[in-house]
Amino acid sequence: MPTTASAYAAPAAGQPLERVTIQRRDVRPLDVAVDIEFAGICHSDIHHVRGEWGEQAYPVVPGHEITGRVSAVGSQVSNFAVGDRVGVGVMVESCRECEACQDGEEQYCTEGMVGTYGVVGRDGEMTQGGYSTSIVTDEHFVYPIPEALGLDVAAPLLCAGITVYSPLKHWGVGPGSTVAVVGLGGLGHMAVQFGAALGAEVTVLSQSLAKADDGRRLGATHYYATTDSATFQKCDQAFDLIINTVSANLPLDDYLGLLRRNGTLVELGLPEHPMPVRAHSFAGRRLSLAGSTIGSVRETQEMLELAADSGIASLIETVQADQINDAWDRVVASDVRFRFVIDVNSMR
Ligand code: NAP
Ligand code: ZN
Ligand code: ZN
Repeated sequence: MPTTASAYAAPAAGQPLERVTIQRRDVRPLDVAVDIEFAGICHSDIHHVRGEWGEQAYPVVPGHEITGRVSAVGSQVSNFAVGDRVGVGVMVESCRECEACQDGEEQYCTEGMVGTYGVVGRDGEMTQGGYSTSIVTDEHFVYPIPEALGLDVAAPLLCAGITVYSPLKHWGVGPGSTVAVVGLGGLGHMAVQFGAALGAEVTVLSQSLAKADDGRRLGATHYYATTDSATFQKCDQAFDLIINTVSANLPLDDYLGLLRRNGTLVELGLPEHPMPVRAHSFAGRRLSLAGSTIGSVRETQEMLELAADSGIASLIETVQADQINDAWDRVVASDVRFRFVIDVNSMR
């Protein structure tokens, strides 16, 4: 029997989220059912639901930073048992057969990974996310949460954490690397922590110095305001890697000027509008302008272990279900230190 869940859904683009009841599918042989306890608010939830990435299907329940406890397992599930502390992130299915899937990079599945909400899954049903009291998903996309991590502060690791960890690893960040993190929001505050844990010298480039003390506590060595034009002179050709987490357009040419020879700017932010860039800005020092999306199942497990071993977690502000719409407005205004996490018990 499908089960009923309480959830917060957007009825249409630009409409506030409202309380609804949704159905979760029967537990299939390889499925894990999760009673959700916490769900992080990612800026992608806002872009998607407000239609900033184009037309979407509604109603949609956002949320892809999910933690909770296993409430049921399918007959063929061997890795999870009822009561286990688990997480679900941004993807819930992939074809498992293409070259990317076989390489263990499900997020780049050539058939398209299935997002946790707002898309039609391989069974023809639309996926609905974690701003809800339960979710049912294939065990391959369920992660054990190490005991050392609280379920609340672990939730943002499932998107913000893995989204920054994967490119830091891919571009070989370690001792001797100089990394700039642009934007100290949800992704940014995880990038500072993981960059420092991997041994890099991390610089934060933020709109102001308002969060400088937090940035240093998280592991940044330098912290500069991008509104101060001296910053771009000070940091000229200073970095091997720039992790851009900003949700709006930036003048990329100016930021490419901060890279050393052979450096890479990884664009993680997914703003609404295209960003122009001059070819000259990256030709001169053989620079790369790159993108990256979340991380694989294997990397997510590795990232959770590193977080537990290194004392890394998200700095969160917990909100109740009836505060979600206000929290979204605060995210858009960059007024969050550093991730809102919904206490899903307030939906029960
Ligand atoms: P967030 O918490 O809102 O953080 C973004 C930060 O960017 C803000 O805190 C702010 O930091 C800075 N910022 C915002 N508006 C700005 C502006 N107009 N000019 C300059 N700086 C600005 O968002 P998030 O959840 O970290 O997500 C960031 C972006 O990454 C979003 O576009 C999201 O969709 C995308 N994302 C991508 C992936 C992926 O797989 N590639 C995964 C998750 C999220 P300061 O106040 O410090 O300047
Ligand atoms: Zn996200
Ligand atoms: Zn695939």
